[in-house]
Amino acid sequence: MPNTMSRRRSGSPTRRRPGVASYRPNNRRPKRANGGQYINPAKFVNSAVAKQEEIPYEPTHKFVDFPFSEGLHKNIAHKGYVTPSAIQDQAIPHVLEGRDVIGLANTGTGKTAAFLLPIIQRMQRTAAQPSVLIMAPTRELAQQIDEEFRSFVYGMKLYSTVVVGGMNIERQIRDIRRRPHVVIGTPGRLKDLLNRKALNLDGIDTLVLDEADRMLDMGFLNDIKTIVNLTPPDRQTLFFSATITPDIERVINDFLKNPVTVSVRTSETSEHVEQTVIHARDKDHKLELLTQLLEDESYDKVLVFGDTKFGVQRLSDKLSRSGITSAAIHGNKSQSQRQRALKEFRDEKVRVLVATDVAARGLDIPNVSHVINFDQPKTYEDYIHRIGRTGRAGASGTAHTFVTK
Ligand code: AMP
Repeated sequence: MPNTMSRRRSGSPTRRRPGVASYRPNNRRPKRANGGQYINPAKFVNSAVAKQEEIPYEPTHKFVDFPFSEGLHKNIAHKGYVTPSAIQDQAIPHVLEGRDVIGLANTGTGKTAAFLLPIIQRMQRTAAQPSVLIMAPTRELAQQIDEEFRSFVYGMKLYSTVVVGGMNIERQIRDIRRRPHVVIGTPGRLKDLLNRKALNLDGIDTLVLDEADRMLDMGFLNDIKTIVNLTPPDRQTLFFSATITPDIERVINDFLKNPVTVSVRTSETSEHVEQTVIHARDKDHKLELLTQLLEDESYDKVLVFGDTKFGVQRLSDKLSRSGITSAAIHGNKSQSQRQRALKEFRDEKVRVLVATDVAARGLDIPNVSHVINFDQPKTYEDYIHRIGRTGRAGASGTAHTFVTK
């Protein structure tokens, strides 16, 4: 363990050092720092109060209680889902009733099934195709939603297609011509397809905006408005976001009618993650420290965050050259390259995945043992998103943040 590390463990009795602020993820809006702005390293150390007793969520339903078709129940059981998560427990009845829903939930809460299951139950096989449009910020998230949809509709003759940037548009146009029931896409590509008149949204009766805050962060607001305005106004709209900002509120007011709000946001993410700062002299020293850390075998599934596409690739290459199996995901990689890298990491063929913030957004990667911020995150919000990749579903995880003078 490098001796430059300052370490605090959540769960140990709190001794607040002067000048070390306690980090509270949910009680204030993170400040958006300018590129490279100094962020007090104390923010990356959790000096949270002694770990509170976890109160498990007591769902009011079991999956068998929901009025789903036999086929859907079978597919849910086949996936091994027995107890609905909080967001599923609370949102599914409203979605089944046809209400507009605002779901305040982060990734990892089971929000995908919370909207997919009732949508599938309400879907008419004969409905105009497509009748469901799902918008998501990233290709990977769109792909994950599609995979989950496919597993839930097994044997039901309901079809979906994914339309995202970075992949052949002609093929996507051909896929849409086959009239899938559900289209899942990122705003940019959806808008392209609409401009080319390859996609018609007149038959949409259900619209999902997933990770709306991320989509807005990524500058998709105008694309989203254009797309939503091309769907029929009497549609059902389901809106998922981890945060509510004034921009988000405006979008909600514009797009949703008399919505029900279901909130399952918790500060769980950071409470389960031991957070430390590692001081380094410069980039080379950071690499040296990272390599030292990785000598420890408990670092078996490590997600490393870097600033730039080039930096991320370079770091991954350097690790690979020093014998540490590593893959990289960033915007300069093609969709299939990213998927391959992700699969290698998920399947534990490589120990380290080096990623940019954008590439890692919304990804559900189980059992990440450590998150390492090789480059400091630009905002506290990014920090929370990054460290939330570990310590999921009640497991404990560790996050290190490298800080250079
Ligand atoms: P999500 O927040 O939708 O990305 O889901 C996070 C993970 O939890 C995914 O791997 C899901 O397959 C899984 N999951 C969702 N709902 C349940 C459930 N009720 N029981 C067990 N696992 C679930």
